[in-house]
Amino acid sequence: MIAKKTLTLSLKSLRDFAQKRLPDEVLRDLDARDECPLEIVRHMCHPDKLGMQLLFIPEEFGGLGGGAFDVYVICEEMARIDLGVATSVLATFLGSDPITVGATAEQKKYWLSRIANEGLLFAYGATEPEAGSDLAALRTTADRVEKDGRIVGYRINGSKQWISNGSIADAYTVLANTPGGPSWFIVEKGAPGFKQDKPEDKHGIRLSNTAALAFNDVYVDADRLVGGVEGQGLNQAQAVFGYTRLMVAAFGLGAGWAALDRAIPYSTKRIQAGAPLSEKQGYTHKLIVPHVARLEASRAFIEETAERIDAGEGSLNTEGAIAKYLATEAGNMAADASIQALGGYGYTHEYMVEKIKRDARITTIYEGTSEIMEMTISRDRWQLHLKTRGQHYHDLAKAHEALHEQHPEVGANFAALALHALAEVMERARVAHLTRHQHILLRLGELVANAECAGCLARRAARLAEGKLHEKANKRFGAAVLAALSRMFAREAALQVAQDGLRWVCGADGANDGGMPPFEAGLGLPAIYRAQAGLIADMDLIADVLYGRTAKNKVLAA
Ligand SMILES: Cc1cc2nc3c(=O)[nH]c(=O)nc-3n(C[C@H](O)[C@H](O)[C@H](O)COP(=O)(O)OP(=O)(O)OC[C@H]3O[C@@H](n4cnc5c(N)ncnc54)[C@H](O)[C@@H]3O)c2cc1C
Repeated sequence: MIAKKTLTLSLKSLRDFAQKRLPDEVLRDLDARDECPLEIVRHMCHPDKLGMQLLFIPEEFGGLGGGAFDVYVICEEMARIDLGVATSVLATFLGSDPITVGATAEQKKYWLSRIANEGLLFAYGATEPEAGSDLAALRTTADRVEKDGRIVGYRINGSKQWISNGSIADAYTVLANTPGGPSWFIVEKGAPGFKQDKPEDKHGIRLSNTAALAFNDVYVDADRLVGGVEGQGLNQAQAVFGYTRLMVAAFGLGAGWAALDRAIPYSTKRIQAGAPLSEKQGYTHKLIVPHVARLEASRAFIEETAERIDAGEGSLNTEGAIAKYLATEAGNMAADASIQALGGYGYTHEYMVEKIKRDARITTIYEGTSEIMEMTISRDRWQLHLKTRGQHYHDLAKAHEALHEQHPEVGANFAALALHALAEVMERARVAHLTRHQHILLRLGELVANAECAGCLARRAARLAEGKLHEKANKRFGAAVLAALSRMFAREAALQVAQDGLRWVCGADGANDGGMPPFEAGLGLPAIYRAQAGLIADMDLIADVLYGRTAKNKVLAA
């Protein structure tokens, strides 16, 4: 883990650099020209300059040995600057991951030291034209080259698609099928038979280079097989999903806030119907406040997961999936709402929110699409539901009822309503065999993510009230506002779980066996409706704080 002071210094250098080298007009120009600013990316990854890559390299190889929390903080900041440039830096993080988790000691020393000391740019080559979400369908092959009965190397044939840094990287980690199964190889630029296609013409992140790769009998020595043992590739990819998905979650968070932080000040200056838009409740409570709640809820999940990964709780793939799913969907929606918030101006290039929206769009696609996240979340939590005979979410709900006793203001009681309702929906789905419908399985993933996140935000608000947040945690909001955000998010989560749960259970004909009355009663819909009391007052409070209004100012403005 990096000392807080070092992290703060890194953030400051990053911001100063961006202010100087990547102001809005430069970003707009690069976006319009569809150009990756290679010199800037190299500057960011050069050990004597910004050295962002040092963050994730262990100290023994010349890096700073940053943990998941550090990486989240930096990734959010990079995304606030430009998601394309951030993606370029991320590609080296991703590309080196198979090495960090699976390489031999010599391979780690050689490659990780080179990334640290030479600023080597990496690319991560997993996706193929026929193998996207379903990586197991990969067709790229690595055939053994043997001499005197010994494997001395491999010949790689095949192609990769949509590879970030594809035509600018110095080295590539490439997933290919060996006789022993999928395995990662390290291939250097310039290897005979290795070609990089021209960059893709993309909807967004146009400052990021994305290209297809072709391998035509590309020879690599045996020591380029990561870990030295065939067949470890998919496990090595899996081992870091919790961590890498947190990075993309932080991208969604950063992009969403970058857009809102343009919409909020804009709305204080734009006068319509005799007053600034920021004074119109129908504007703030639709276009700004709900997005702040969703982003901060996902931040709670990101921070808690990062803390747990750093505490050694394992790779936390499902939690990483929840964080990515919620933060990227929230970031994407916040950026879209920010265009609306700027009206016609938002629809032009000059005001930047349309670029941020185009950029943010990728976060729900790469590093696992939202639908794959829903499936991952649902499958894992379904097993928990079965293993605990339906008690998992009831138990979690009870823990939040207990939290409510200690902190009645943080909305833990509303989160408990969401969690109890979730347990009922899952049980009904079990009894009526509803997960045979894939759509129901994926919708359960969405409900799980929102209900768990409601609990997580309530816990974060309680910790903040106790002054016990992580020392590197984001402190944009004080305890009273975070509690209001938590109440707001949890009310919505409870309503969504109960109403959507009911809808999907009925929609899949899962309520035809007389089980409907107890199911409806168990959902607690009347209590969930009553829990909406106070919602507008909470939204007013959040808007007042976002706009720096005191109660007195508000009365005057009215
Ligand atoms: C700009 C960009 C940069 C990228 N960078 C990299 C990189 O550096 N390295 C790398 O390896 N890859 C990279 N990718 C690839 C990216 O990870 C994939 O695009 C992504 O995993 C989705 O795969 P796909 O595009 O083949 O879509 P598909 O898998 O074909 O999915 C298409 C749609 O179907 C849905 N879907 C897929 N399977 C199912 C299912 N079983 N059930 C229900 N719905 C399903 C998906 O959610 C999606 O909505 C990048 C992609 C882009 C666009």
